[in-house]
Amino acid sequence: MVNWFAIRPDCRKALKDPVLRSYYKHYFSILEGKGLPYHMIARMVQVELRGDLDTLWEEHGRALGEFWDLVERNPREFKPVEPNLLQLKAEIAERILRGCRFCEWRCGTDRTREPGRVCRAGKDIAVSTAFIHLGEEPEISPSYTVFTLGCNLACIHCQNWEISTWAEKGLIISPSALAKSIDRAWGMGARNANLVGGEPTIWLHAWLRTFTVVREPIPVFWNSNGIYSREAMRLLEGFADIIKIDFKYGNDRCAMRISRAPRNYMEIMERNLKHARRVSEPLIRVLVLPGHLECCLRNILKSIVDWTGRDTRVNVMFQYYPAHRAPEGPYPELKRRLSWEEMEEARKMVLESGLQNVLIG
Ligand code: SF4
Repeated sequence: MVNWFAIRPDCRKALKDPVLRSYYKHYFSILEGKGLPYHMIARMVQVELRGDLDTLWEEHGRALGEFWDLVERNPREFKPVEPNLLQLKAEIAERILRGCRFCEWRCGTDRTREPGRVCRAGKDIAVSTAFIHLGEEPEISPSYTVFTLGCNLACIHCQNWEISTWAEKGLIISPSALAKSIDRAWGMGARNANLVGGEPTIWLHAWLRTFTVVREPIPVFWNSNGIYSREAMRLLEGFADIIKIDFKYGNDRCAMRISRAPRNYMEIMERNLKHARRVSEPLIRVLVLPGHLECCLRNILKSIVDWTGRDTRVNVMFQYYPAHRAPEGPYPELKRRLSWEEMEEARKMVLESGLQNVLIG
């Protein structure tokens, strides 16, 4: 096996860090071979797979209760059953696909017939690249990162614009082939399956179906912009071990102007961040934008403290550069990198926020 830690020794040390150990109890227990990822525990919960969508949601609610009971006991004493909660989640998602409401645009497109109105995604998952990534946070790397096509936002400065805007087509991959590659990555030392895009939400049905046939106990790292619907939120519970959300803006106006986000951006973030904290060990990433410290960063930090607590794991990043349409776009402040003074000011804001589990820089 490749010695990933020769390249990133801090990743090995992260597992011994007392602050991280007390935060990532579930995630680290999987990495240490004691716990099981949620997708495997969901496979131990028996369900009924019959009836209309409302009936399936009712069954889902009941089964989730059983799921959390199992998490509290020792799930290793139980065996997978069929049909199970994970299969139920996949079935619900496939039905939703016929009038898609995975993200907060809720455009209702029948994606078995035509591409989604905003995301332009059809039925079959399209993958750009997949590889073991060493550039994530020390506790996350090495991470088997699967980049999928399409997104439900249109950030003017998107750093992955080739894949989020479908400038390339990607490869259509079946859930079973994808599952095999995830199993292989676990064998090669990946700590998690990093489901990213574009935006993974638009492929929720395919991810759930894929994990019904994943064999290895690899944790799910849901790498999202957070603009997923209430329905997607419920399906992520009992599936994603770490829900990572990019908290991009501190107000609705900046979110709409720069990313063409839905007009209730902050309301969506509040709901999904609070839920992520309840049902997973979330990671919040904040890319500091030049000229957006007072209008965005300050309120983002305050909101994290208010909604998910001071101990939430947060990565405040300074690596903004004017990508995609930012250089010729209408916002002068986005045509440059952060100034030294802005980085100093951002550091000060983070310190003053009271957050206790932060990476900066
Ligand atoms: S993911 Fe969002 S934009 Fe895409 S089809 Fe579904 S609701 Fe519409």
